[in-house]
Amino acid sequence: MNTAYIGIGSNQHNPKYHVIRGIREINHLPKIDIQKKSSLYETPPLGPQNQPNFINAVIKITTSYQPIELLAILQSIERKHHRKRVKKWGPRTLDLDILIYDDIVLDSDILKIPHPEIINRDFVLIPLLEITGYNFRMPKFGKLIQYV
Ligand code: AMP
Repeated sequence: MNTAYIGIGSNQHNPKYHVIRGIREINHLPKIDIQKKSSLYETPPLGPQNQPNFINAVIKITTSYQPIELLAILQSIERKHHRKRVKKWGPRTLDLDILIYDDIVLDSDILKIPHPEIINRDFVLIPLLEITGYNFRMPKFGKLIQYV
């Protein structure tokens, strides 16, 4: 079984509903078990400011889907929420990102793991650390050299 962290965000049409509904849909998938859920956070939009605030959360899952299968299945859930890819950083009904998948480091056109923006986005990092604890070692980030 593999462990992964999924970032969830929405800022359209009752975003809290889309986030909670998205988590429920992920939980119903046969090869995924949700292990932990962060709190829901309301965060200001990145980029264009003339759009609603986001609701963000992170979940920890165990799964037998391989990373690329997991991406496809998450994208099918995004599509069910009528997500329209209009513009970069624009409003979205449901955004699901694979943040981390075991210790895998992947850098292909369609899938980058760990998600390259984790470190730059507090709306991802804070809910992630809420469920991992602060001793969590991010793959690729560097290694812990000493506890003090
Ligand atoms: P976004 O609009 O930010 O949701 O980006 C969606 C695109 O990012 C998709 O076409 C994916 O192929 C690509 N992508 C690359 N790495 C990841 C990842 N770790 N999780 C989700 N999507 C990813």
